[in-house]
Amino acid sequence: MNEYDSNRIYDLASTIGFNKTNTKQDADCFVLNTCHIREKATEKVYHEIGRLKKYFKNLKKPLIIVSGCVAQAESQEMIKREPYIDMIVGPQSYHKIGDMILNHQRKKIKLNETDFDVINKFDKLENIYNSQNKISSYLTIQEGCDKFCNFCVVPYTRGPEYSRPYRQIINEANQLVQNGVREIILLGQNVNAYNFKENNKNYALSSLIRELNKIKNLKRIRYMTSHPKDMTNDLINCYGDCEKLMPFLHLPIQSGSDKMLKLMNRKHNKKYYLSVIEKLKSINKDIKFSSDFIIGYPEETEQDFQDTIELIEKIGFFNSYSFIFSPRPGTPAAKKKFNNLEENKKRLKKIQSTLENFQKKNNEKYFNKFCEVLIENKLDKQEKYFGRTKFMTPVKFHSNNCKPGELVNVKITSFNQNGLFGVYQNNKVEAA
Ligand code: SF4
Repeated sequence: MNEYDSNRIYDLASTIGFNKTNTKQDADCFVLNTCHIREKATEKVYHEIGRLKKYFKNLKKPLIIVSGCVAQAESQEMIKREPYIDMIVGPQSYHKIGDMILNHQRKKIKLNETDFDVINKFDKLENIYNSQNKISSYLTIQEGCDKFCNFCVVPYTRGPEYSRPYRQIINEANQLVQNGVREIILLGQNVNAYNFKENNKNYALSSLIRELNKIKNLKRIRYMTSHPKDMTNDLINCYGDCEKLMPFLHLPIQSGSDKMLKLMNRKHNKKYYLSVIEKLKSINKDIKFSSDFIIGYPEETEQDFQDTIELIEKIGFFNSYSFIFSPRPGTPAAKKKFNNLEENKKRLKKIQSTLENFQKKNNEKYFNKFCEVLIENKLDKQEKYFGRTKFMTPVKFHSNNCKPGELVNVKITSFNQNGLFGVYQNNKVEAA
């Protein structure tokens, strides 16, 4: 989501005459767009500002703006601790960035905007041209979260769930496709909770997918990140008849133990999660899954950990993210006693090797076969291209006859755990 926000911040700043520079020394304004989910996020911001301070020591001081969730969570403290910062702007107030810059230039005062002003934000963004033209681009449809998982800071930094107006999203999607975008990844902290009401009609994520599925020249649709509780039947059914919706779903579970899911306040159990997976497989037999896992959450026992391994083996996730629990200030889990770090490291290693084995086995299945790739870019000074399969697996391949944005069939000649390698054999896929 920060990538989407960063692009939109740039679009907003360009309306008051700012342009991207090629080198650091040419810049007179830096926006550090931060993510509070990252470990030691705050310290990383201070380090980056420290580097900028050094760099501009004998030059004119640039304008320094900190935006994003760290800015939201620690606004006052940041301005106090680091006088080099000129402006703080939260993730729901960044539409004001142009006026704030102009205000700062006039009055030379420190500014701090961290209101949850999400409705006005998207109303303003609706009228600002989205310059994004990467083949695969993000599009935010929903923000915030009402789920309050005990480990997560999102409900405090992004605020309550908000769904953007349906028409605004369709218009922005059309604009992106006109710019050359061929894959849209719909974004939300809780994307499948999307729910917009207008004129007695309810629009869900499934309504958006069905409408996007009709856009000529759009080739692929994805969405992230989903909560199992919001995998409704109408959304599941899209995997049966929306050919542009990719059969790959990132569906975080966090743990395979019901006890841990309850302690985390995840609002679902393992049986429910498995029932969602089964429904999806019955609608689309090709669908694959990835997930997130937290290791060493307070009170996790060896048995809880084994339950997680068992779940991974049962589902055979395509690829997944796993982390040792680290407390986020202000969340209920931060007040709990943590597990032994050495034990957690061992568990992380075990879980990662289990996940990596699945990833490798999945990649091996492509060996000597053709697979469909959406080309994202040409590699610098090489007759090679980079793209992704339907399941997001990266592919590098040789060709002297391809263009970014094309869907092609690539013959896979080798693989490793992280990706596939191959050659293009004059076998383009018909545009949908
Ligand atoms: S559902 Fe996701 S975003 Fe919401 S609180 Fe839980 S982990 Fe955070």
